[in-house]
Amino acid sequence: MKSRLIITLLLLSAAVGGATAALAQDKGSVDPKPLPPLANPYDPKLGAKELFGRKVLPAAMPTRVVGFYAHGCIAGAEALPINGDTWQVMRLSRNRNWAHPQMVALLERLSAKAHKDAGWPGILVGDMSQPRGGPMITGHASHQVGLDADVWLTPMPNRRLSREEREEMSAVMMVRPDRLDVDPQVFTPGHLAVIRDAALEPSVERIFVNAAIKKALCREARGDRSWLSRIRPMYGHDYHFHIRIKCPPGSGECESQPEPAASEGCKPADLAFWFKDSVIHPKPPKEPPKPRPPMTMAQLPAACRQVLAAPDAKQ
Ligand SMILES: [Zn+2]
Repeated sequence: MKSRLIITLLLLSAAVGGATAALAQDKGSVDPKPLPPLANPYDPKLGAKELFGRKVLPAAMPTRVVGFYAHGCIAGAEALPINGDTWQVMRLSRNRNWAHPQMVALLERLSAKAHKDAGWPGILVGDMSQPRGGPMITGHASHQVGLDADVWLTPMPNRRLSREEREEMSAVMMVRPDRLDVDPQVFTPGHLAVIRDAALEPSVERIFVNAAIKKALCREARGDRSWLSRIRPMYGHDYHFHIRIKCPPGSGECESQPEPAASEGCKPADLAFWFKDSVIHPKPPKEPPKPRPPMTMAQLPAACRQVLAAPDAKQ
């Protein structure tokens, strides 16, 4: 129970600091500098992110999800190919287009549905996980076990993007400057269709969007509205939405999250917290928060040491 409390605190602090947002608008480089070798990779105080961030390929092990979305790792991850008929992967320099095979299949399926239901040429996929999951050097408290993926709220253009464009192109901000609703100039019925298609995938546990987007979905959804219960307001997520799937069957070491309540979460009281002035315009803290020591290998599930130590999978 103690570890769950720590995870919750970590998630909350990261969320408040904006670190759980994938920051789709953060740019990358077509010529990323490899991380320098670690002077002392066995230092017990070393952040696990330094070790996982240096792995370029998945572990040569059967697929295995270990731990919790914000506290774990994955073996046997699969890459989402960087180009499909109806999708393209963005920010290739981050090498975060890895996930559990179920998530890879879901994204491929979702991209075809986005094409059909929203008329989009396809979807742009942002961060998934690192080749072996684990904590990341930049951004995201979650995305550690190959069961989280970010999809841009910008339709894929009708052409193959260049390497430069994939690093430099910005996603479109969906939320109005006053943060109280979506910007009707950019948020379209197509966006609702793509988010609904994602939420209707049976393996989906939650979809995170900005509260203004949830409010718009609540207002505009017609017909079956049961999927709205899986749409959860979260800080950030105004340029992209975040898909989280359940622990795949047979993943005994994977820790799931309780199912969200069955209600739509569309009542004014359900959303009131997110539109409070203190949440929309948080006061800067009087003292800058002390940087938290990074999660070490000892704090991750023990099996993640095996995942880290395993040889590279053959590509
Ligand atoms: Zn995300």
